[in-house]
Amino acid sequence: MDEFSLRTRERNLERLASESFDLLVVGGGITGAGVAFDAASRGLKVALVERADFASGTSSRSSRFVHGGLRYLAHGELGLVRESLAERTELRRMAPYLVRPVLFMLPVPRRAPRRLGGSLGAAMLLYDVLGGRRFNGRRARATTGQAHARSPALAPQHLERAHLYWEATVDDARLTLTVARTAAQHGAVLATRCSVIGLDGNEARCEDRLGGRELLLRARCIVNAAGVWSDRVRALQPGGATIDIRPAKGVHLAVPRTLVPGDAALMLPLGGGRFVFTCPWGVVTLIGTTDSDYDGPLDRAAPEEDEIAELLGRINPWLERPLERSDVVGAYAGLRPLPAREGSTADLSRRHRLSASGPLVTIAGGKLTTWRKMVAETVDFAAERVLGERIPSTRTTELTLDGTGPSAPGVPAHLHERYGAHAADVLALAREQDLDRPLVEGLPYLEAEVAYAARHEMAATVDDVLDRRTRASIETRDGGRSAAPRIEELLAT
Ligand code: FAD
Repeated sequence: MDEFSLRTRERNLERLASESFDLLVVGGGITGAGVAFDAASRGLKVALVERADFASGTSSRSSRFVHGGLRYLAHGELGLVRESLAERTELRRMAPYLVRPVLFMLPVPRRAPRRLGGSLGAAMLLYDVLGGRRFNGRRARATTGQAHARSPALAPQHLERAHLYWEATVDDARLTLTVARTAAQHGAVLATRCSVIGLDGNEARCEDRLGGRELLLRARCIVNAAGVWSDRVRALQPGGATIDIRPAKGVHLAVPRTLVPGDAALMLPLGGGRFVFTCPWGVVTLIGTTDSDYDGPLDRAAPEEDEIAELLGRINPWLERPLERSDVVGAYAGLRPLPAREGSTADLSRRHRLSASGPLVTIAGGKLTTWRKMVAETVDFAAERVLGERIPSTRTTELTLDGTGPSAPGVPAHLHERYGAHAADVLALAREQDLDRPLVEGLPYLEAEVAYAARHEMAATVDDVLDRRTRASIETRDGGRSAAPRIEELLAT
């Protein structure tokens, strides 16, 4: 297993400062990591700088679905749904251990107007036709009793029947990290804690946020993949830039799995093409999401009490025992980088937008689900508009992500689901270094995972470990803080 650590970062910074590149990617979310992977695997010389940690922006705060998006049907975005459903199959091929099928249940409320029952049925049919059925298993119907058996928290008196269909979930932060590591294996040079603070033609001035020094990076093309911060990056160019991104905030909650048990995710219709959903996630059930315009500070979007109350208010009518504020174990907020246009944020398209200004290409918008296709288009666009040369077409349709491959027998599922073929390395580390104790009480993570994160996943801080290498920060009431001293000790070692 290759080292991918702060030592690697240090060596990479030396290279970033002394060599010049075809492409410099700004941002280590799913989009930036994807662009680096796609471009490097086509033979381009690629650098990537991320201001904080991989996936520290929106790419660790999503609903964690790889999906067509039933609600986009309500907005008539059939093309987007079809494309997303095809990408769902593609991502499962690329990383089956990370992108895993989950059964969805869409209940029809008992006293719903006939129109709603009919339109949900029609939406399911259309979803199938657009590609929904070509994944894992067939769509089915459930009676009230069957629906209640699958999801005992649902109040049966409100249920008429339910539709069952398949989608996929993914650990968004680990997917992003995995794409970044795969990019490195294809030759990309990556550094976290390195922020672009100035742009001038083909040069980018960067701040090494650990070493406190400034570096000058040179590239023929600079790809701005800074998500909701992409307007700020564009504004670093002489002459500045117009506003193109309108952030939309989404909040999720985590409650103990025992309160909303079962293996199925729930898609609960609220009317008007809107839904509240639940998703089983280890010891918790995730509940999401709000969708509202956001004009606060981009770096400090956090769940507000009224948003938590709003989500509880949406889900409670469906539950036999309503959830209370004190049931909430964790919460997180993310900002969608939506293209600026009129209309409510829920209606704004999830499509991406590409633009060029001199050597700077900006890619913004899109979905986690469609990253592979979106980054392939970005690299094509950069080659044509900025590099001015023909390059091979994307190879991502034939490549897999790091960790995809046969797994060793006897590896526990909780490790396989996060490390794939590398789970055996984590176990070996646990045995050799005597690190097979649980890291956080009540959660399956092992101490060895911190050592592995430091050596092979470029983790630098306690937050990297609690928020993104593991997801402990929303899975326990104290956010995993009780383990902080031990994590610090292990990272230092
Ligand atoms: P980010 O992940 O935000 O990455 C941008 C990166 O750029 C950040 O890490 C930031 O630190 C870095 N950066 C910023 N400025 C600089 C600089 N000057 N120098 C260096 N680096 C810089 N999609 C789905 O497909 N399925 C879902 O279930 C889903 N649910 C969602 C739920 C919510 C609430 C939200 C908000 C989004 C959801 N999405 C979902 C959409 C998806 O999460 C986003 O489209 C995707 O994560 C955006 O990734 P990104 O790389 O473009 O942006």
